[in-house]
Amino acid sequence: MNFPNRETVEKLRSTYPVGCRVVLDHMDDPYVNIPVGAQATVTGVDDAGNVMCVWDCGSSLSLAYGADQAHKVGTEDEAKVTLNWYGQHQPEKDFRCPRCGEMMWGPKARHALSRYAAITVCDRCGMEEALEKAGQVEAKSLMKWCAIVLPSIGGGTWRR
Ligand SMILES: [Zn+2]
Repeated sequence: MNFPNRETVEKLRSTYPVGCRVVLDHMDDPYVNIPVGAQATVTGVDDAGNVMCVWDCGSSLSLAYGADQAHKVGTEDEAKVTLNWYGQHQPEKDFRCPRCGEMMWGPKARHALSRYAAITVCDRCGMEEALEKAGQVEAKSLMKWCAIVLPSIGGGTWRR
């Protein structure tokens, strides 16, 4: 077994912060049936360098240090899967807009439904998306959404 030093573990923790989303590239275990391309939310990195995950399929298998491989969400399609998942986990009220990061006060139903994913965004973002869809302004990449760039606004606390 190959154990990482403390510096490596700290580096892994900053690369995979709690709440960030990862996509599976390879799992070195013939008995695991999590498909390549499956997404998970990171819940931490243990002292042995294993990235602890909750997979969307329900499994909570960690990514084993030095054996399994995954990458952070890196494409528009992957970002959409992540945003759809975050959308299912938004609080009922008072949370940050996953697109711009501003606080959205009041109940979820009062805000706008995104045109890009099944997720609620603030009214201003809802309006911007409408302009984008109408071709008035250039569309904002899903990779630039706050929930993707700063995972604490997505699958983390959703709060200040
Ligand atoms: Zn917004």
